[in-house]
Amino acid sequence: MPDIIQLLPDSVANQIAAGEVIQRPASVVKELVENAIDAGATQITINIKDAGRTLVQVSDNGCGMSETDARMAFERHATSKIREANDLFNIRTMGFRGEALASIAAIADVELYSKQHDSEVGTFINIVGSRVQKQEVTQCANGTNFLIKNLFFNVPARRKFLKSNSTELKHIINEVQRIALANPEIGISLIHNQDPVYEMASGDNIRKRVVSIFGKGINQNLIPVNTETSLVSIKGFVGQPKYARKTYGEQFFFVNNRFMKHPFFNRAVMQAYEKILAPDSYPAYFLYLEVNPDCIDINIHPTKTEIKFENESAVWQIIQASVREALGKFNVMPSIDFDQ
Ligand code: ADP
Ligand code: MG
Repeated sequence: MPDIIQLLPDSVANQIAAGEVIQRPASVVKELVENAIDAGATQITINIKDAGRTLVQVSDNGCGMSETDARMAFERHATSKIREANDLFNIRTMGFRGEALASIAAIADVELYSKQHDSEVGTFINIVGSRVQKQEVTQCANGTNFLIKNLFFNVPARRKFLKSNSTELKHIINEVQRIALANPEIGISLIHNQDPVYEMASGDNIRKRVVSIFGKGINQNLIPVNTETSLVSIKGFVGQPKYARKTYGEQFFFVNNRFMKHPFFNRAVMQAYEKILAPDSYPAYFLYLEVNPDCIDINIHPTKTEIKFENESAVWQIIQASVREALGKFNVMPSIDFDQ
């Protein structure tokens, strides 16, 4: 019998990886904006057409890329953020897997303009379905500007799976909210079909950022949380019980400036509110945890929203105690009247 096993070409491997990393236009927004943050940008503009079907454009004023790096960036497992396995236990950047750009370029038409601040000229690259169509020297602004068009052009099943524009836009807005809350000091604009959705100034603090996303009404309902232990520091805000909603949507955990989903820690917050919430309602919270990067594992899923903690139950206790203390200080009594 002849041997039958072959190594897949990179373009196919990238397309397979893309299936996990890029699920919808919102994933493209997330990956590109996270790259802009890692590049040290203080201003990021996200320009979307037709909920990302026609265009996802992300431009930043970050460090930019050299001509060689601009091409390298699209290779699989190509990253400037880690160098060796040990670095995985000390991650301070949003990215480190080196697969987002390779994935996006495998399933879309990508244009990149990038220029380093001390460089006279920039680089333009166009890649479609992992194939470089054009690379040339160009005049462009400092920083990086990505235009992603024709997403999923060669993955018909994915394209068909996309929901209505309003649903896809909602996913994009959710991603932008998470990133904007995680990085209040960064200026972020989101434009959809020429209309501004968010225009968040750089230099915000957490409270200002929360208000610019959820509206002025939330401001007097924010109760500060501030806890410092050797294991974890927690800051941010929890909402007054009377501000709780019947639906989820204003619950956010961040760890080392990264949004995370954590149903177990969510229960710690819920328990702290026990008996002071109307039934079936959810308190708002914006809790920012800082831990030593070697106590967490971010590398569980390509989208990195799941995070494993080494001392999960101890952190759980600290979260619960901090929220309880914050609520206690603000004299939130068990017998408040709920406006139902
Ligand atoms: P990762 O972020 O995991 O390193 P990506 O595929 O997202 O992988 O990006 C590959 C590399 O391209 C990054 O490590 C970075 O060096 C470079 N890069 C990507 N986006 C930008 C940007 N907006 N500004 C500067 N460099 C960037
Ligand atoms: Mg990245």
